[in-house]
Amino acid sequence: MKTALVTGITGQDGAYLSQLLLGKGYEVFGVIRRSSHRGVEDHRLRWLGIADKVTLLDGDLADLSSLVRIVKEVRPDEVYNLAAQSFVASSWRQPILTANITAVGVTNILEAIRAEQPEARFYQASSSEMYGLIQEPMQSEATPFYPRSPYAVAKLYGHWITVNYRESFGMHASSGILFNHESPLRGVEFVTRKVTDGVARIKLGLAGELRLGNVDAKRDWGHARDYVKAMWLMLQQDKPDDYVVATGRTTTVRDMCRIAFDHAGLDMERHLVIDPAFYRPAEVDVLLGNPAKAEQKLGWRPETTLEQMIIEMVDADLERLRRTTPG
Ligand code: NDP
Ligand code: GDP
Repeated sequence: MKTALVTGITGQDGAYLSQLLLGKGYEVFGVIRRSSHRGVEDHRLRWLGIADKVTLLDGDLADLSSLVRIVKEVRPDEVYNLAAQSFVASSWRQPILTANITAVGVTNILEAIRAEQPEARFYQASSSEMYGLIQEPMQSEATPFYPRSPYAVAKLYGHWITVNYRESFGMHASSGILFNHESPLRGVEFVTRKVTDGVARIKLGLAGELRLGNVDAKRDWGHARDYVKAMWLMLQQDKPDDYVVATGRTTTVRDMCRIAFDHAGLDMERHLVIDPAFYRPAEVDVLLGNPAKAEQKLGWRPETTLEQMIIEMVDADLERLRRTTPG
Protein backbone atom coordinates (compact mmCIF):
# COMPACT_ATOMS: atom_id res chain seq x y z
CA MET A 1 0.00 0.00 0.00
CA LYS A 2 1.39 3.43 -0.97
CA THR A 3 1.32 6.31 1.48
CA ALA A 4 0.52 9.90 0.50
CA LEU A 5 0.83 13.08 2.53
CA VAL A 6 -1.40 15.96 1.42
CA THR A 7 -0.96 19.51 2.70
CA GLY A 8 -4.09 21.60 2.14
CA ILE A 9 -6.23 18.45 2.54
CA THR A 10 -9.17 20.51 3.86
CA GLY A 11 -9.27 22.61 0.67
CA GLN A 12 -11.07 21.94 -2.62
CA ASP A 13 -8.22 20.07 -4.31
CA GLY A 14 -7.14 18.28 -1.14
CA ALA A 15 -10.60 16.75 -0.83
CA TYR A 16 -10.83 15.56 -4.46
CA LEU A 17 -7.22 14.34 -4.49
CA SER A 18 -7.77 12.35 -1.28
CA GLN A 19 -10.85 10.75 -2.84
CA LEU A 20 -8.79 9.79 -5.92
CA LEU A 21 -5.90 8.40 -3.85
CA LEU A 22 -8.19 6.39 -1.55
CA GLY A 23 -9.79 4.92 -4.66
CA LYS A 24 -6.34 3.79 -5.79
CA GLY A 25 -5.69 2.09 -2.45
CA TYR A 26 -3.40 4.69 -0.90
CA GLU A 27 -3.17 5.37 2.80
CA VAL A 28 -3.82 9.12 2.98
CA PHE A 29 -2.49 11.51 5.62
CA GLY A 30 -3.24 15.21 5.69
CA VAL A 31 -1.87 18.28 7.43
CA ILE A 32 -4.51 20.24 9.31
CA ARG A 33 -4.08 23.65 10.98
CA ARG A 34 -5.11 24.02 14.57
CA SER A 35 -8.31 26.02 14.71
CA SER A 36 -10.88 27.04 17.28
CA HIS A 37 -13.49 25.69 14.84
CA ARG A 38 -12.50 22.06 15.18
CA GLY A 39 -15.14 19.84 13.69
CA VAL A 40 -16.10 21.98 10.71
CA GLU A 41 -12.81 22.41 8.86
CA ASP A 42 -13.16 18.92 7.31
CA HIS A 43 -16.55 19.78 5.74
CA ARG A 44 -15.30 19.10 2.18
CA LEU A 45 -13.98 15.66 3.17
CA ARG A 46 -17.35 14.95 4.79
CA TRP A 47 -19.19 16.14 1.66
CA LEU A 48 -17.29 13.51 -0.30
CA GLY A 49 -17.87 10.92 2.46
CA ILE A 50 -14.18 10.34 3.15
CA ALA A 51 -13.53 12.22 6.41
CA ASP A 52 -13.20 8.94 8.34
CA LYS A 53 -10.88 7.39 5.75
CA VAL A 54 -8.00 9.86 6.01
CA THR A 55 -5.70 10.60 8.96
CA LEU A 56 -5.32 14.26 9.88
CA LEU A 57 -2.16 15.47 11.62
CA ASP A 58 -1.69 18.86 13.28
CA GLY A 59 0.78 21.09 11.47
CA ASP A 60 1.28 24.34 9.64
CA LEU A 61 3.23 25.16 6.50
CA ALA A 62 4.86 28.06 8.37
CA ASP A 63 6.16 25.74 11.10
CA LEU A 64 9.08 23.69 9.81
CA SER A 65 9.26 21.67 13.03
CA SER A 66 5.70 20.42 12.55
CA LEU A 67 6.45 19.35 8.97
CA VAL A 68 9.63 17.52 9.96
CA ARG A 69 7.71 15.65 12.66
CA ILE A 70 4.90 14.72 10.26
CA VAL A 71 7.17 13.56 7.43
CA LYS A 72 9.19 11.48 9.93
CA GLU A 73 6.00 9.90 11.29
CA VAL A 74 4.27 9.23 7.96
CA ARG A 75 7.29 8.37 5.77
CA PRO A 76 5.24 9.16 2.64
CA ASP A 77 5.92 7.77 -0.82
CA GLU A 78 4.29 10.88 -2.31
CA VAL A 79 3.80 14.40 -0.96
CA TYR A 80 1.26 16.79 -2.52
CA ASN A 81 1.81 20.38 -1.42
CA LEU A 82 -1.59 22.01 -1.92
CA ALA A 83 -1.58 24.27 1.15
CA ALA A 84 -1.49 27.99 0.42
CA GLN A 85 -3.07 31.34 1.06
CA SER A 86 -4.81 30.76 -2.25
CA PHE A 87 -7.07 33.78 -2.83
CA VAL A 88 -5.56 36.45 -5.11
CA ALA A 89 -7.65 39.36 -3.76
CA SER A 90 -6.61 38.63 -0.15
CA SER A 91 -2.96 38.62 -1.12
CA TRP A 92 -2.91 42.45 -1.39
CA ARG A 93 -4.43 42.70 2.09
CA GLN A 94 -2.10 40.06 3.61
CA PRO A 95 1.01 40.10 1.42
CA ILE A 96 3.46 38.99 4.10
CA LEU A 97 1.34 36.08 5.28
CA THR A 98 0.89 35.10 1.63
CA ALA A 99 4.69 35.11 1.17
CA ASN A 100 5.27 33.14 4.38
CA ILE A 101 2.83 30.36 3.46
CA THR A 102 2.55 30.33 -0.34
CA ALA A 103 6.27 30.99 -0.99
CA VAL A 104 8.52 30.13 1.98
CA GLY A 105 6.13 27.36 3.09
CA VAL A 106 7.19 25.43 -0.02
CA THR A 107 10.81 25.51 1.12
CA ASN A 108 9.70 24.33 4.56
CA ILE A 109 8.01 21.21 3.20
CA LEU A 110 10.86 20.56 0.76
CA GLU A 111 13.39 20.84 3.62
CA ALA A 112 11.35 18.46 5.79
CA ILE A 113 11.33 15.92 2.94
CA ARG A 114 15.03 16.42 2.19
CA ALA A 115 15.90 15.78 5.85
CA GLU A 116 13.57 12.87 6.59
CA GLN A 117 12.39 11.18 3.38
CA PRO A 118 14.42 12.40 0.39
CA GLU A 119 13.18 9.63 -1.92
CA ALA A 120 9.55 10.82 -1.59
CA ARG A 121 7.99 12.16 -4.78
CA PHE A 122 6.84 15.76 -4.48
CA TYR A 123 4.07 17.74 -6.20
CA GLN A 124 3.91 21.54 -6.01
CA ALA A 125 0.62 23.33 -6.72
CA SER A 126 1.79 26.07 -9.06
CA SER A 127 -0.62 28.43 -10.76
CA SER A 128 -1.50 30.02 -14.08
CA GLU A 129 -1.57 33.32 -12.13
CA MET A 130 2.24 33.25 -12.58
CA TYR A 131 1.66 34.23 -16.25
CA GLY A 132 -0.23 37.35 -15.11
CA LEU A 133 0.40 39.98 -17.77
CA ILE A 134 0.56 37.32 -20.44
CA GLN A 135 3.60 37.23 -22.72
CA GLU A 136 2.01 34.85 -25.25
CA PRO A 137 -1.65 34.48 -26.28
CA MET A 138 -1.64 30.80 -25.25
CA GLN A 139 0.50 29.90 -22.25
CA SER A 140 2.66 26.77 -22.15
CA GLU A 141 5.54 25.54 -19.96
CA ALA A 142 7.89 27.70 -22.11
CA THR A 143 5.97 30.98 -21.72
CA PRO A 144 7.79 33.60 -19.58
CA PHE A 145 6.10 34.56 -16.31
CA TYR A 146 4.90 38.05 -15.29
CA PRO A 147 3.10 37.83 -11.93
CA ARG A 148 0.53 40.53 -11.11
CA SER A 149 -0.34 39.98 -7.44
CA PRO A 150 1.46 39.14 -4.19
CA TYR A 151 -0.15 35.68 -4.56
CA ALA A 152 1.34 35.18 -8.01
CA VAL A 153 4.77 36.44 -6.90
CA ALA A 154 4.68 33.95 -4.01
CA LYS A 155 3.61 31.10 -6.32
CA LEU A 156 6.49 31.93 -8.66
CA TYR A 157 8.92 31.48 -5.76
CA GLY A 158 7.26 28.13 -4.93
CA HIS A 159 7.59 27.05 -8.55
CA TRP A 160 11.26 27.92 -8.86
CA ILE A 161 12.27 26.49 -5.47
CA THR A 162 10.66 23.21 -6.60
CA VAL A 163 12.67 23.29 -9.85
CA ASN A 164 15.77 24.23 -7.86
CA TYR A 165 15.47 21.34 -5.36
CA ARG A 166 14.99 18.96 -8.28
CA GLU A 167 18.13 20.27 -9.98
CA SER A 168 20.20 20.76 -6.79
CA PHE A 169 19.39 17.59 -4.86
CA GLY A 170 17.98 15.24 -7.50
CA MET A 171 14.59 15.17 -5.79
CA HIS A 172 11.59 13.79 -7.69
CA ALA A 173 9.87 17.19 -7.52
CA SER A 174 7.25 18.23 -10.10
CA SER A 175 5.34 21.46 -10.53
CA GLY A 176 1.84 21.49 -11.96
CA ILE A 177 0.96 24.84 -13.49
CA LEU A 178 -2.78 24.52 -13.09
CA PHE A 179 -5.24 26.94 -14.63
CA ASN A 180 -8.37 27.85 -12.64
CA HIS A 181 -10.34 24.81 -11.60
CA GLU A 182 -13.63 24.82 -9.77
CA SER A 183 -16.33 22.55 -8.36
CA PRO A 184 -19.18 22.56 -5.84
CA LEU A 185 -16.38 22.47 -3.22
CA ARG A 186 -14.75 25.71 -4.41
CA GLY A 187 -14.46 28.47 -1.79
CA VAL A 188 -17.38 30.89 -2.08
CA GLU A 189 -15.01 33.89 -2.44
CA PHE A 190 -13.87 32.70 -5.89
CA VAL A 191 -15.89 34.03 -8.79
CA THR A 192 -17.46 30.82 -10.14
CA ARG A 193 -18.76 29.69 -6.76
CA LYS A 194 -19.77 33.25 -5.83
CA VAL A 195 -21.86 33.24 -9.02
CA THR A 196 -23.43 29.79 -8.55
CA ASP A 197 -24.17 30.45 -4.86
CA GLY A 198 -25.54 33.91 -5.74
CA VAL A 199 -27.74 32.57 -8.54
CA ALA A 200 -29.10 29.85 -6.24
CA ARG A 201 -29.91 32.47 -3.57
CA ILE A 202 -31.74 34.64 -6.11
CA LYS A 203 -33.64 31.62 -7.40
CA LEU A 204 -34.79 30.74 -3.87
CA GLY A 205 -35.77 34.34 -3.05
CA LEU A 206 -32.94 34.73 -0.51
CA ALA A 207 -31.23 37.56 -2.46
CA GLY A 208 -32.14 40.02 -5.19
CA GLU A 209 -28.82 40.83 -6.83
CA LEU A 210 -25.32 39.55 -7.50
CA ARG A 211 -22.45 42.06 -7.21
CA LEU A 212 -19.31 41.35 -9.21
CA GLY A 213 -16.18 43.27 -10.22
CA ASN A 214 -14.45 42.96 -13.59
CA VAL A 215 -16.73 40.72 -15.67
CA ASP A 216 -14.59 41.20 -18.80
CA ALA A 217 -11.74 39.14 -17.32
CA LYS A 218 -11.25 35.82 -19.11
CA ARG A 219 -10.25 32.53 -17.54
CA ASP A 220 -9.54 28.99 -18.69
CA TRP A 221 -11.79 27.10 -16.26
CA GLY A 222 -11.77 23.34 -15.69
CA HIS A 223 -13.14 20.93 -13.07
CA ALA A 224 -11.08 20.17 -9.95
CA ARG A 225 -12.05 16.47 -10.13
CA ASP A 226 -10.32 16.26 -13.54
CA TYR A 227 -7.30 18.31 -12.49
CA VAL A 228 -6.31 16.23 -9.43
CA LYS A 229 -5.85 13.28 -11.81
CA ALA A 230 -3.09 15.24 -13.54
CA MET A 231 -1.35 15.80 -10.17
CA TRP A 232 -1.29 12.08 -9.49
CA LEU A 233 -0.12 11.26 -13.03
CA MET A 234 2.84 13.64 -12.67
CA LEU A 235 4.13 11.66 -9.69
CA GLN A 236 3.79 8.34 -11.55
CA GLN A 237 6.33 9.40 -14.20
CA ASP A 238 9.92 8.10 -14.07
CA LYS A 239 11.22 11.65 -14.29
CA PRO A 240 9.95 14.75 -12.49
CA ASP A 241 8.91 17.66 -14.72
CA ASP A 242 6.63 20.70 -15.02
CA TYR A 243 3.25 20.59 -16.75
CA VAL A 244 0.53 23.03 -17.74
CA VAL A 245 -2.94 21.69 -16.90
CA ALA A 246 -5.74 23.56 -18.69
CA THR A 247 -8.67 23.10 -21.07
CA GLY A 248 -7.44 25.30 -23.95
CA ARG A 249 -10.66 27.36 -23.92
CA THR A 250 -11.12 30.80 -22.35
CA THR A 251 -14.40 32.49 -21.35
CA THR A 252 -15.30 35.86 -19.85
CA VAL A 253 -16.64 36.06 -16.30
CA ARG A 254 -19.80 37.55 -17.87
CA ASP A 255 -20.38 34.53 -20.16
CA MET A 256 -19.65 32.07 -17.33
CA CYS A 257 -22.18 33.98 -15.24
CA ARG A 258 -24.77 33.78 -18.01
CA ILE A 259 -24.54 29.97 -18.03
CA ALA A 260 -25.50 29.95 -14.34
CA PHE A 261 -28.39 32.42 -14.69
CA ASP A 262 -29.73 30.63 -17.78
CA HIS A 263 -29.65 27.26 -16.03
CA ALA A 264 -31.71 28.71 -13.17
CA GLY A 265 -34.17 30.26 -15.64
CA LEU A 266 -33.27 33.81 -14.50
CA ASP A 267 -32.53 36.96 -16.51
CA MET A 268 -28.92 37.94 -15.76
CA GLU A 269 -29.41 41.57 -16.78
CA ARG A 270 -32.03 42.04 -14.04
CA HIS A 271 -29.80 40.84 -11.21
CA LEU A 272 -26.13 41.45 -12.04
CA VAL A 273 -24.66 44.62 -10.50
CA ILE A 274 -21.11 45.78 -11.31
CA ASP A 275 -19.44 46.87 -8.09
CA PRO A 276 -15.99 48.53 -8.31
CA ALA A 277 -15.34 47.34 -4.73
CA PHE A 278 -14.42 44.00 -6.33
CA TYR A 279 -11.90 45.47 -8.80
CA ARG A 280 -8.31 44.49 -8.08
CA PRO A 281 -5.25 46.79 -7.81
CA ALA A 282 -3.78 44.94 -10.82
CA GLU A 283 -5.78 42.55 -12.98
CA VAL A 284 -4.98 39.43 -14.95
CA ASP A 285 -7.12 40.15 -17.99
CA VAL A 286 -6.94 36.82 -19.76
CA LEU A 287 -5.54 33.33 -19.25
CA LEU A 288 -5.57 30.53 -21.81
CA GLY A 289 -3.51 27.39 -21.29
CA ASN A 290 -1.97 24.96 -23.74
CA PRO A 291 -2.23 21.48 -22.21
CA ALA A 292 -0.43 19.72 -25.11
CA LYS A 293 2.47 18.44 -22.98
CA ALA A 294 0.16 17.01 -20.29
CA GLU A 295 -1.90 15.37 -23.03
CA GLN A 296 1.12 13.84 -24.77
CA LYS A 297 3.26 12.81 -21.80
CA LEU A 298 0.65 12.09 -19.12
CA GLY A 299 -2.23 11.02 -21.36
CA TRP A 300 -4.35 13.54 -19.43
CA ARG A 301 -7.42 15.25 -20.85
CA PRO A 302 -10.11 17.41 -19.25
CA GLU A 303 -13.41 15.52 -19.14
CA THR A 304 -15.87 18.20 -17.99
CA THR A 305 -17.01 21.23 -20.00
CA LEU A 306 -17.51 24.64 -18.41
CA GLU A 307 -21.28 24.33 -19.01
CA GLN A 308 -21.47 20.92 -17.28
CA MET A 309 -19.44 22.20 -14.35
CA ILE A 310 -21.42 25.41 -13.78
CA ILE A 311 -24.70 23.47 -13.96
CA GLU A 312 -23.36 20.95 -11.41
CA MET A 313 -22.35 23.85 -9.14
CA VAL A 314 -25.69 25.70 -9.40
CA ASP A 315 -27.60 22.46 -8.65
CA ALA A 316 -25.34 21.70 -5.67
CA ASP A 317 -25.82 25.23 -4.29
CA LEU A 318 -29.60 25.01 -4.73
CA GLU A 319 -29.63 21.73 -2.85
CA ARG A 320 -27.32 23.01 -0.11
CA LEU A 321 -29.43 26.14 0.43
CA ARG A 322 -32.72 24.24 0.41
CA ARG A 323 -31.31 21.93 3.09
CA THR A 324 -30.00 24.71 5.34
CA THR A 325 -32.66 27.41 4.94
CA PRO A 326 -35.43 27.28 7.55
CA GLY A 327 -38.96 26.97 6.18
P1 NDP B 1 -8.14 26.11 -1.07
O1 NDP B 1 -8.07 27.55 -0.70
O2 NDP B 1 -9.47 25.46 -1.20
O3 NDP B 1 -7.30 25.26 0.01
C1 NDP B 1 -6.12 25.76 0.57
C2 NDP B 1 -5.67 24.78 1.63
O4 NDP B 1 -4.44 25.27 2.23
C3 NDP B 1 -6.67 24.61 2.79
O5 NDP B 1 -6.68 23.25 3.17
C4 NDP B 1 -6.04 25.45 3.90
O6 NDP B 1 -6.39 25.05 5.19
C5 NDP B 1 -4.57 25.16 3.63
N1 NDP B 1 -3.68 26.11 4.29
C6 NDP B 1 -3.67 27.45 4.18
N2 NDP B 1 -2.69 27.98 4.94
C7 NDP B 1 -2.07 26.94 5.55
C8 NDP B 1 -1.00 26.84 6.47
N3 NDP B 1 -0.38 27.92 6.94
N4 NDP B 1 -0.61 25.60 6.88
C9 NDP B 1 -1.26 24.50 6.44
N5 NDP B 1 -2.29 24.54 5.58
C10 NDP B 1 -2.69 25.75 5.14
O7 NDP B 1 -7.31 25.93 -2.42
P2 NDP B 1 -7.52 24.91 -3.65
O8 NDP B 1 -7.81 23.56 -3.12
O9 NDP B 1 -8.43 25.53 -4.64
O10 NDP B 1 -6.08 24.93 -4.31
C11 NDP B 1 -5.05 24.02 -3.90
C12 NDP B 1 -3.71 24.60 -4.26
O11 NDP B 1 -3.62 24.81 -5.66
C13 NDP B 1 -3.39 25.96 -3.62
O12 NDP B 1 -2.01 25.99 -3.35
C14 NDP B 1 -3.74 26.95 -4.71
O13 NDP B 1 -3.05 28.16 -4.55
C15 NDP B 1 -3.31 26.16 -5.94
N6 NDP B 1 -3.98 26.50 -7.18
C16 NDP B 1 -5.36 26.46 -7.23
C17 NDP B 1 -6.02 26.75 -8.40
C18 NDP B 1 -7.51 26.69 -8.49
O14 NDP B 1 -8.05 27.17 -9.49
N7 NDP B 1 -8.20 26.09 -7.53
C19 NDP B 1 -5.26 27.11 -9.62
C20 NDP B 1 -3.82 27.01 -9.47
C21 NDP B 1 -3.23 26.72 -8.29
P3 NDP B 1 -7.71 25.63 5.95
O15 NDP B 1 -8.83 24.73 5.53
O16 NDP B 1 -7.33 25.50 7.38
O17 NDP B 1 -7.90 27.05 5.50
P1 GDP C 1 -8.22 34.01 -9.74
O1 GDP C 1 -8.07 33.88 -11.21
O2 GDP C 1 -7.39 33.04 -8.97
O3 GDP C 1 -8.06 35.39 -9.23
O4 GDP C 1 -9.74 33.51 -9.44
P2 GDP C 1 -11.06 34.32 -9.02
O5 GDP C 1 -12.18 33.35 -9.20
O6 GDP C 1 -10.92 34.94 -7.66
O7 GDP C 1 -11.16 35.51 -10.08
C1 GDP C 1 -11.25 35.25 -11.46
C2 GDP C 1 -11.53 36.55 -12.20
O8 GDP C 1 -12.85 37.00 -11.89
C3 GDP C 1 -10.58 37.71 -11.83
O9 GDP C 1 -10.19 38.37 -13.02
C4 GDP C 1 -11.46 38.63 -11.00
O10 GDP C 1 -11.11 40.02 -11.08
C5 GDP C 1 -12.81 38.40 -11.66
N1 GDP C 1 -13.93 38.79 -10.81
C6 GDP C 1 -14.92 39.64 -11.16
N2 GDP C 1 -15.75 39.84 -10.13
C7 GDP C 1 -15.30 39.08 -9.11
C8 GDP C 1 -15.76 38.87 -7.77
O11 GDP C 1 -16.75 39.41 -7.32
N3 GDP C 1 -15.03 37.98 -7.01
C9 GDP C 1 -13.91 37.35 -7.49
N4 GDP C 1 -13.25 36.48 -6.70
N5 GDP C 1 -13.45 37.57 -8.75
C10 GDP C 1 -14.14 38.41 -9.55
